[in-house]
Amino acid sequence: MAKYNVLFVLGGPGAGKGTQCDLIVKNYDYKHLSAGDLLREERQRAGSQYGEEIEGHIRAGTIVPVEITCSLLQRAMEDSGKKNFLIDGFPRNKDNLDGWNKAMDDVATVRRVLFFDCREDVCVDRCLNRGKTSGRSDDNMESLKKRIHTYNNSTMPIIDHYKALDLVSHLHAEKTPDEVFDDVKKVLDELKL
Ligand code: UDP
Ligand code: MG
Repeated sequence: MAKYNVLFVLGGPGAGKGTQCDLIVKNYDYKHLSAGDLLREERQRAGSQYGEEIEGHIRAGTIVPVEITCSLLQRAMEDSGKKNFLIDGFPRNKDNLDGWNKAMDDVATVRRVLFFDCREDVCVDRCLNRGKTSGRSDDNMESLKKRIHTYNNSTMPIIDHYKALDLVSHLHAEKTPDEVFDDVKKVLDELKL
């Protein structure tokens, strides 16, 4: 069976990953999987043995063990019947990266990493704004500080790892969604998946 094509979508909290993934799905044949959304769903699922552990990490802005996240992603990929995926907000640290490589080596190929690069103060403003309506337990200043710390210390090295493999498309994410999407389109049109 042909391997899945995967684009990792990375960037700080509030960089616009989810917004851009929505725009991509409307215009291209990709299935969007947000690791954060899958974890929030699993947290809510009755009978989940991981609910409390997941909530603890989300509030603290730390990272859920890869076995949990990767198995949720893998199941969602299989269930979708699609072959092209946007994986949003994963891998966030070395544990995520190693776990992915181990589990998915024969199953999926990472074709590109979309890196949405956005200044920290802009990210903070966006998340606090979203917090007014999102109901998310981590869109508050206290959790945000921790998420930004995790992003700078644990996720940036993963982006650097893929840069060294020449797989990163660097997108300037402080513009309007439509303006950013114009740049995204150029990347996807060239990839032709
Ligand atoms: N999270 C995680 N592993 C992942 C993705 C998310 O542990 O692969 C947790 C982590 O605690 C993170 C939170 O879920 O801070 C929210 O992630 P999400 O991607 O929804 O936030 P975003 O970066 O989109 O604002
Ligand atoms: Mg998101």
